[in-house]
Amino acid sequence: MLYCARCRTPVDSSARRCPNCKNTKLRAAAPEDSVLLHRADAYAAGLLESRLLEAGISCQIEPVSQGYSAHLSDPTALPTDRNLYVPFGSLEAAQAISAQLKQELDAAPASEETEAERPGFRRLLLETVSVVVFLLLIMAAVFSADAVANWIRSLLGF
Ligand SMILES: [Zn+2]
Repeated sequence: MLYCARCRTPVDSSARRCPNCKNTKLRAAAPEDSVLLHRADAYAAGLLESRLLEAGISCQIEPVSQGYSAHLSDPTALPTDRNLYVPFGSLEAAQAISAQLKQELDAAPASEETEAERPGFRRLLLETVSVVVFLLLIMAAVFSADAVANWIRSLLGF
C-alpha cells in the first residue's frame, strides 16, 4: 500500500498518483501514518472517537477544510463536516468499529423520532389553546364594550 501525505489517504500500490488529489509523490504506507477513516457530522464523529478510544485506537478529528473526498470513504454517509483520521495500522479495526456504529445510528432514529415528536405536539397544542383563549378574550372585550355602550345609551334614553 502506498500513502499520499498530502491528503492522508492510502493509495493502491499499482496507482501512479493519488486518486483524490492527483499527487504523484507517493510513498510506502507506514502503520503510524494517519489516514482518513471517514467523514462524519460532529455528532457521529464524537461517538466514533469515543468508540475508537475504547478500542485503543488513537484518532484525530479535524474540520473538513479542503475539497478532497477520499475514495475509501462511504458516499452514502450523513452530510459531513468532520474528517476522522486513524493510524494506517489500525484502519481495518477502525473501519469495523465505524461500520458497527453506522448500523446503530441507522437503527436509532425511529425511536428518537417518536421521542422528539411528543414535545413538538404538546407545544403545538399549547399554542392552539393560547390562540383560542386570546380570541375569546378579544370577543369578550368586544361584547362587553357593546353591552356597556347599550347600557349607557339606555341610561341616556336614546
Ligand atoms: Zn492525495
